[in-house]
Amino acid sequence: MKAINLDNIFEISKRNTIEAQRLASDCANLVTLPESSSPIPLKGFLSRIVSKFRFKPSNNQSITSSEFFHLKNAARQYIQLLADNDILAMEAIISVKNQIEYRLNYLAEKQEKTVKQLHDIVLKINHKFEDMQHRIEKLEETTALHSWIITIEEYGYSILPEQIRMLRIIHDFRSLKQDELTNNDIRCFKNALRRVQINPDKKTTIKNFIENLTSSNYPNKYTEEISKYTLLEIIDPQKVVDNISQPITSAILLFAESYAKNAQAVKVISDSYHNIPEKEAIAKIILENISTNGIDVHAEIENAHLALEIFTGLKLSLYFGNKKGLKCTNKSCGSNTISHTPGYCSQCGQYLQPIL
Ligand SMILES: [Zn+2]
Repeated sequence: MKAINLDNIFEISKRNTIEAQRLASDCANLVTLPESSSPIPLKGFLSRIVSKFRFKPSNNQSITSSEFFHLKNAARQYIQLLADNDILAMEAIISVKNQIEYRLNYLAEKQEKTVKQLHDIVLKINHKFEDMQHRIEKLEETTALHSWIITIEEYGYSILPEQIRMLRIIHDFRSLKQDELTNNDIRCFKNALRRVQINPDKKTTIKNFIENLTSSNYPNKYTEEISKYTLLEIIDPQKVVDNISQPITSAILLFAESYAKNAQAVKVISDSYHNIPEKEAIAKIILENISTNGIDVHAEIENAHLALEIFTGLKLSLYFGNKKGLKCTNKSCGSNTISHTPGYCSQCGQYLQPIL
């Protein structure tokens, strides 16, 4: 089989980093899937990858195991290409790295070569991140961000339980900083976490995070806040599940939605686990949902990396899971077209923005 030529998609990715970010997430999903000896149905993220890579499978319902292997190699190269060329912002690359890390434990030992290759990617990204954090750069105009951090004690973060505090920090940070993060922004972000008593370097697990989130929210203490911080008014969780590969973000959104919709529904699902307390049952259901996606919920990860992943996930969700869609915001353009895929305005060429 001829190697898949990534030149074209690489050129597109440079121009459309939101698309690139989604594709990178899909690829992270693919590279960690186990080999299969039977044909794999062509749907969801796999069909997205096939179409973006302009790959022509022998059958359009499924792909053979050798085509699968072939695609996996291309997916790995694609991630490597994005990481090496600084196409994606650091927070987006961190989120791809997390995705790979969560799944490494699931890969069978006989796939030693794959595991090694993936470990190399993870290591490289980690080094890059560390290196970046130590680089001194010219101070930019980040007045709003700085004044927020300096006065952070005044915003009432301390009364919130840690996981909800983290969601709020992500939310507030996002409202101050909508474009890609610079090194300095990431330092500010870590500093903000530290100032509200969340140690950014401390390791946590998804299991821990979800369990604590559920238990702090029980029975419905912070449902409204969680909905607000996860932008539930604008984002449709089901669209996120269908359109992007971000299990943690999807899980938090689905969690927020089911709580917000109906506290009773939560009670009903928890009834299916008779012997354990309701709040534990809720956490169990969410964690099972995440595990279904092949995520190792016990994998350890720094608080800052988890927070950055949620930050990126919500940003992607605004573009791919937006209830209202995307439009041109250029006042002198006047185009009223609403799109549901990120891209450029056909009239003036401006990048389309989520409708808030
Ligand atoms: Zn326009």
